[in-house]
Amino acid sequence: MLEIKGLKVKLEEEDKDILKGVDLTVEAGQVHAIMGPNGSGKSTLSYVLSGKDGYTVTDGSAALEGVELLDMEPEERAAAGLFLAFQYPVEIPGVGNMTFLRTAVNAQRKARGEEELSAADFLKVVREKAKSLKIDAEMLKRPVNVGFSGGEKKRNEILQMAMLEPKMCVLDETDSGLDVDAMKLVAEGVNALRSEGRSFLVITHYQRLLNHIQPDVVHIMSDGRIVKTGGPELALEVENNGYTDILAEVA
Ligand code: ADP
Ligand code: MG
Ligand code: MG
Repeated sequence: MLEIKGLKVKLEEEDKDILKGVDLTVEAGQVHAIMGPNGSGKSTLSYVLSGKDGYTVTDGSAALEGVELLDMEPEERAAAGLFLAFQYPVEIPGVGNMTFLRTAVNAQRKARGEEELSAADFLKVVREKAKSLKIDAEMLKRPVNVGFSGGEKKRNEILQMAMLEPKMCVLDETDSGLDVDAMKLVAEGVNALRSEGRSFLVITHYQRLLNHIQPDVVHIMSDGRIVKTGGPELALEVENNGYTDILAEVA
């Protein structure tokens, strides 16, 4: 599904690499977790995959189902099936949540050569999916994320993901700032979307989300590289001992 090879990235205006050679392969249907200390490059990886401005790829590649992502515009990446749930969802004053979702869904359908959803069909689907994430109808009418609580913003990210039905979902610290109940809702939303043809990259600083979203593979990222890969037990090791021991061991 996703194959990242030797990915090196620097900030446009600086000379220092932030990602220093990331290798990562996610098979279809798998859930991979990336853990790591603050500043290790986790968000940078998700931004570069989705095509955010301000970064320069100096080496390596990232392919989605064999097609190079790094050559594409952000909207082309989305149409190809990539989705990023932001660590810090942005507020978009003046743009209704429902309008935003409908525009995004239809733009994506168009890019895939599919027919637009009718207003009635769209309403039905969005209401159903919002309900399962305990997002009330009122929130669908408000401007995107404006005045939403931290938990509501994160659930709204998952609603976007559910509506767009991506193949490769990247969740950047979707659990940060959430209380246990909100985190469980987010995890349930993600678990409901798990399928053979869909993969997840779950970025998290803490292990607790991985109690609710069981990963197949866990990676530890440090200083711009994946320094250790293992099974779910690796997340527990981090929970029990922190990053210090693991990082000392691989150093
Ligand atoms: P993580 O998500 O693992 O906490 P980040 O990808 O946010 O790490 O950051 C990795 C490193 O790159 C940090 O040292 C951070 O300060 C730096 N960095 C990332 N993006 C920027 C930016 N736009 N401007 C300045 N420094 C940045
Ligand atoms: Mg951080
Ligand atoms: Mg981050």
